[in-house]
Amino acid sequence: MRCPFCSHQETQVVETRDSDEGDVVRRRRRCHGCEKRFTTYERTEIALPAVVKRDGTRAEMDPAKIRASMTLALRKRPVSVEQIDAAMERIQDKLLTSGAREVPSTKLGELVMRELKRIDKVAYVRFASVYRSFEDVDEFRQLIRDI
Ligand SMILES: [Zn+2]
Repeated sequence: MRCPFCSHQETQVVETRDSDEGDVVRRRRRCHGCEKRFTTYERTEIALPAVVKRDGTRAEMDPAKIRASMTLALRKRPVSVEQIDAAMERIQDKLLTSGAREVPSTKLGELVMRELKRIDKVAYVRFASVYRSFEDVDEFRQLIRDI
């Protein structure tokens, strides 16, 4: 991290603090050249691939939507929030490490199904049997209600 005052290359972190929101890390740094102090803000960059829908259109991936679908399938099932968190993490990890810039909605649905199969068979069957196109959360919700 270059010093903003003298452009010196070497700076030292003197304090690290999470922000109230938790998604930003605030660091106090001291320049080895001019001894001045400055603050940097570090934010996690999440570059999830875009979702290619069945009709060929693209949409930004919305983890909240994926989670909503999983939660629906897991309705009244003995599965903890922590288990859903872990499943969501595995799905996002897989997408992030794949490096793909786009992912078909069908592939995304498969990833969700694989996770559900692992944590709850009933939810898996629910999801698999009503699953059509992943972006249709409302339709999915309706179908789940009908079961
Ligand atoms: Zn400096």
